[in-house]
Amino acid sequence: VIELRHVDKHFGDLHVLRDVNLSVGRGEVLVVIGPSGSGKSTMCRTMNRLETIDSGEILIEGEPLPQEGRELARMRAELGMVFQQFNLFAHMTILDNVTLGPREVLGQGKEEAERYAMELLERVGVAEQAHKVPAQLSGGQQQRAAIARSLAMRPKAMMFDEPTSALDPEMINEVLDVMVELARGGMTMVVVTHEMSFARRVADRVVFMADGQIVEEGSPDEFFDHPKTQRARDFLDSIK
Ligand code: ATP
Ligand code: MG
Repeated sequence: VIELRHVDKHFGDLHVLRDVNLSVGRGEVLVVIGPSGSGKSTMCRTMNRLETIDSGEILIEGEPLPQEGRELARMRAELGMVFQQFNLFAHMTILDNVTLGPREVLGQGKEEAERYAMELLERVGVAEQAHKVPAQLSGGQQQRAAIARSLAMRPKAMMFDEPTSALDPEMINEVLDVMVELARGGMTMVVVTHEMSFARRVADRVVFMADGQIVEEGSPDEFFDHPKTQRARDFLDSIK
């Protein structure tokens, strides 16, 4: 579904992505881990051109991701993104947050958009909060609403960049559980996370990044039990 070929990127003198090659297959759950500053967020952001790249290629379903214009907007909508900060519109109700994209971008009518939104809010367990504004919800509820908002666009794949790292500990699992359900439902997912037990449980493949490079790649068991490189061993020791 998503393919990066020889992707390079600099921020000024800083070489943040070095010849990154990666492909995510349909229904696959790819977990990306690595030290802070290793380029995980940047890599995710290049996947829908929230960041430009210096060289290389990004393909979505075999099609090169366009540089700009209407085609880019269309392909961007096919990749849902959930960030550490929930990014819900503060002045709008949860229901309006979820229906905005489908109505404005997909051209759905109010009724159709709201019916599907309620179904999704039900699925992530915040249907009762539909008519509240984000500030009236807990962090975990807001993040689940943000996931529903992405799903409302019927994305081909979902990207999660540390979706639980801004949450209080007791709310982490309620968000991870929603992600586990999504993964079981066959969604193609790229997940940047420090939640190792989650990674073990749902990842089909783990990618370890350091200094802008993919240093190691393998099944969760391979990676966690038999890391091949010293860098990965050091990293795993540091988070234990
Ligand atoms: P973390 O685990 O802390 O989220 P990360 O692996 O997601 O880290 P990135 O956010 O991708 O790392 O950052 C990679 C490097 O690029 C870091 O050194 C960061 O300081 C730098 N960087 C990120 N965004 C920018 C930017 N807009 N301008 C300049 N440098 C940036
Ligand atoms: Mg990051």
